[in-house]
Amino acid sequence: MKHLPSDILFSSLNQLEVGVVIIDHDCEIVFFNQWFSDHSGVTSQDVIGKSISSIFSEFTDTRLEEACLCALNLGLPAKLSNTFNPKPLPLFLKNHIGDNHYRIHQQISVKSISSETNEKLCEILIDDVTSTVKKELMLKKLADENKQQQIKAELANSAKSQFLANMSHEIRTPMNGVLGMLDLLSATSLTKEQEYFSKLAKSSADTLLVLINDILDFSKIEAGKLEIELIDFDLRSHLGDLAQSLSIKAKEKNIEIILDDIDVEQTMVVGDPGRIRQIITNLVGNAIKFTKDGEVIIKAILFPNSVDSSKIMLDINVSDTGIGIPQSKCETLFDAFTQVDASTTREYGGTGLGLSIAKQLCQIMGGSISVSSEVNVGSTFNFTIALAQSEQHLDILPIENIKGLRVLLVDDNRTNRKVITNQLALWGVDTVEADSGEAALELLIKYDENFFSMAFIDMQMPHMSGDVLCKKIKAIPAWSSLKLVMLTSMGKRGDATYFADLGFSAYLIKPVIASDLHSTMEIIVNDGKVLAKATPLVTKHYISSLKKITKENCGKVLLVEDNRINQQVAMGILKRLGYKSEIAVNGIEALKMLKNVGESSPFEVVLMDCQMPEMDGYQATRAIRSCKDGSINKDIPIIAMTANAMVGDKEACLDAGMDDYLTKPIDYKLLEQKINHWLNKS
Ligand code: ADP
Repeated sequence: MKHLPSDILFSSLNQLEVGVVIIDHDCEIVFFNQWFSDHSGVTSQDVIGKSISSIFSEFTDTRLEEACLCALNLGLPAKLSNTFNPKPLPLFLKNHIGDNHYRIHQQISVKSISSETNEKLCEILIDDVTSTVKKELMLKKLADENKQQQIKAELANSAKSQFLANMSHEIRTPMNGVLGMLDLLSATSLTKEQEYFSKLAKSSADTLLVLINDILDFSKIEAGKLEIELIDFDLRSHLGDLAQSLSIKAKEKNIEIILDDIDVEQTMVVGDPGRIRQIITNLVGNAIKFTKDGEVIIKAILFPNSVDSSKIMLDINVSDTGIGIPQSKCETLFDAFTQVDASTTREYGGTGLGLSIAKQLCQIMGGSISVSSEVNVGSTFNFTIALAQSEQHLDILPIENIKGLRVLLVDDNRTNRKVITNQLALWGVDTVEADSGEAALELLIKYDENFFSMAFIDMQMPHMSGDVLCKKIKAIPAWSSLKLVMLTSMGKRGDATYFADLGFSAYLIKPVIASDLHSTMEIIVNDGKVLAKATPLVTKHYISSLKKITKENCGKVLLVEDNRINQQVAMGILKRLGYKSEIAVNGIEALKMLKNVGESSPFEVVLMDCQMPEMDGYQATRAIRSCKDGSINKDIPIIAMTANAMVGDKEACLDAGMDDYLTKPIDYKLLEQKINHWLNKS
């Protein structure tokens, strides 16, 4: 029977806040301290002289015993739990008080010590790390729960995305009918009131389509399925068309849209015009929405990528003079569903999705987006994306007579068929309708192989989808000359390449603009270089990249404009179109310049802004026409160039003596057309 050594060293161990057990070279207990006794309930009679297994109840391995032997025989200290196992060992002390074991998580260290009589002993230190372990366990449990919740949320998200994708398809189909029918309606003779109502209905339908597209995009982003297309397009004309269409909305609020694309020197690029349009439309749409009066400037710069020479960077700034955004809100603005405050939402409407989609799109296109803003002064959104160099140069849209052509139209939706058939009928094109792929094949068999010049095929049809029908047609050699046009209401990224590989010649998304349909048919009928160069096939953007007119005339133009940015923009356009031009900043200066210009290079056309300080465009025109001092060309063609597009503005310009009327932002194709027209006349 062993006894507790009456060592001073040992008695001092009783003060410690950790458990201490000391064993001798036979691995038998010779001492335990107060802490140990308090926590385990053991008394000296119970365990002194007994092996350590009498106090550690649940040894799952022999590590403790081995560690003690190492310490005793070799003098090696050891730390159990943390050293051998990243987590403390869940050992149990035998509870000598009751039946239940006293359960603590311990960190055990073992080292050799010597008694005063130089006897080799081993000290076992037991540290209670229960609270740390409990915390860790709790954290782990929380992490597991979070993980489970995350998996659940991901599953729910993907179901939601799928639902949204299906829903937006279901909604888009009837929307095509609504939009197409409204287009046809507006082409008929309507009373002023009916025209107004149909315009409102069209604008509401357009807004709804944008909303549906936003939701679809958002669900695609969430599902990681957003794709970007790479096609050749004319950046300058794309930006011009876009600014033109956005200005309609701006004019309703009397806001001027200025497009400054002078620093876009290269016109053909490779990128995703649809996505660029989407970002700009959102930024400009917001700028118009949050601006009461003033202007919205779209400034575009194209510059080489310093790292990768095959890339060019497009930098676009959209700045407004609107309500501005507080600094604290600028950072979170690009998060989904974020709006500056609830009252803004109530006043202006919106989903808070646009900017988050724009951010994702910029990132996918190798760029970024940012904002700087000052409350009550205005905001500037800036985004940069990477584009690739294009091998293409501008080609001229072929002019072909499509009257008398025969087209096979395959679409299961009756309304869609009606919209297109009616449109084609206006151009004298005969349409034979098929409501399914099977019916289309029967018609192709029934008629002579050259009966149809082309077939318009819908993608989503029951039984046989558009791509399957294409494969069947392409498999028959006799039908190989039949040109196929994909008309789908579910445009997906990557479609252009997919349908081109199948053998389609063109790919258009419904609702199709009549002029695009016409141009597509002209290109197909022409069947020449322009069709061959459409990579991968004819699309809306390819069509808009084609030059519609050629110009030989070069006259000198007097630009009368007070706004510095507008001056730069207009001068840039005139220069690009090949016209020599000079600027007058108001009516008085214009009169002076017209009077003093030399005989050898007179001005041949005047582009006249209406609102200007000192002498406005109306006064200047009247002064020119009245030819008071007799020294200026009183019949010089004057084209009004104004942001005013209200009813009666055109009349006011013509009444003042101007010959023509052009609205800002300037559509450079239209400007060229008008200048050419008046130069030829004069
Ligand atoms: P939505 O306009 O549909 O609400 P967005 O994501 O496009 O969604 O915009 C989020 C919010 O950012 C807007 O609701 C508005 O509070 C703020 N915002 C965006 N653009 C501007 C701007 N040009 N001027 C002031 N606030 C803006």
